[in-house]
Amino acid sequence: TSFDAIGLPSVMLDNILRKYNYNKLTPVQKYGIPIILKGRDLMACAQTGSGKTAAFLLPLAKMIAELDTNDSTVAQYTTYPVALILTPTRELCNQIYDFARGFRAGTNIHAKRVYGGPKTEYLRAELANGCHILVATPGRLKDFAERNIVSLNKTRLLVLDEADQMLDRGFMDSVTWTLDQMPSDRQIVMFSATFPNQIQALAQQYLQNYLYLTV
Ligand code: AMP
Repeated sequence: TSFDAIGLPSVMLDNILRKYNYNKLTPVQKYGIPIILKGRDLMACAQTGSGKTAAFLLPLAKMIAELDTNDSTVAQYTTYPVALILTPTRELCNQIYDFARGFRAGTNIHAKRVYGGPKTEYLRAELANGCHILVATPGRLKDFAERNIVSLNKTRLLVLDEADQMLDRGFMDSVTWTLDQMPSDRQIVMFSATFPNQIQALAQQYLQNYLYLTV
């Protein structure tokens, strides 16, 4: 199993192989990417350093690249993100955003971010032309969604990164609120280093017929 087997657009494959010099899939990528591409919900046990960010960003970018961007129903996804990535900290938000930008270079896939700290007007200006992939921290995202700056009712895929950290930081209410804004047939991919009871309960409640992956 290698990066070419994922079926990424050739410019993206080039970004991975030449810009990032990845040559071999890590275990979470090898086993996680095919599950995500099948559209299945996934709960994956993965630590920082396992290559989990590429494990969700690459299949997500492939799925977005396959949407026909000339189709008017897809064109409007630029105002409604197709994919949302929730992360517990602004540092992680910016790190994932940088990866998304690096991987997508040369494609028509747009990534934006919403996180705590900057003034609303600054983030709103960044979001002005919309995006396919939105990387966000839960509290700020909820605030933006409540004010209709961001709409989640066409979001097809949610990635919950470091779910246990979300819990530790008291973000569970914002996370479940966000889940409730999304269409019921969305795909959910969850990554966590540990699986305390509340995280298992969250998966039971929101994931559908999900696979569990531990690497
Ligand atoms: P992460 O677990 O997503 O925080 O990634 C940890 C580090 O591994 C990052 O610096 C990535 O650039 C790097 N990385 C991710 N996937 C691969 C891969 N397949 N081969 C080599 N390095 C990778």
